[in-house]
Amino acid sequence: MQLLKDRILKDGIVKPGNILKVDSFLNHQMDIDLINEIGKEFKARFSDCPITKILTIEASGIGIACIAAQYFHVPVIFAKKAQSLNLDGEMYRSKVESFTHKKVYDVILSKKFLGPEDHVLLIDDFLANGCALLGLIEIVRESGAVLEGAGIVIEKGFQDGGKKIRDMGVRLESLAIIDSMTDDSLTFRED
Ligand code: 5GP
Repeated sequence: MQLLKDRILKDGIVKPGNILKVDSFLNHQMDIDLINEIGKEFKARFSDCPITKILTIEASGIGIACIAAQYFHVPVIFAKKAQSLNLDGEMYRSKVESFTHKKVYDVILSKKFLGPEDHVLLIDDFLANGCALLGLIEIVRESGAVLEGAGIVIEKGFQDGGKKIRDMGVRLESLAIIDSMTDDSLTFRED
């Protein structure tokens, strides 16, 4: 998605530890016109799928998922991060290691909001090592819902999350895939 790539080149900042900061337009301050175009693009890419729910993970995915959902006309559900977990039969749960905070979280979702009748699209801001998406995929599997695919805004193609997810047979659509990044250069994979 050229508009997104141009914005990453203009305003993205590469930080130590393979972190790309895009907090001036995507996940702290949010450029709603841009995110609106991102939502439309997800809809165009998954227009052939009978999506009934969009599932994301708190916190950065929520705003993006909500804007995308306006084009799919379906509810957004988000997995919550919980530090400690009272075992509770009413929740789906999985574990996610945070790429940015290097901590393991339990993530939980109420069983009320996802079941075998659902067709799910996963949405998140970044894909790095794939832990966040794998946690969400586990929740979808546990629920018996159909996983239609995953939409990612920025995939860091030099980390192995994308390969893991595609190797599982999951349809993965990333709007910008970064092949390499250093302090002064950033290259994208061709569409
Ligand atoms: P993964 O679980 O795929 O390793 O990492 C995905 C999660 O880590 C995303 O939900 C995102 O919040 C965060 N993340 C991973 N890489 C980056 C990055 O380069 N920049 C930012 N801002 N967040 C990242």
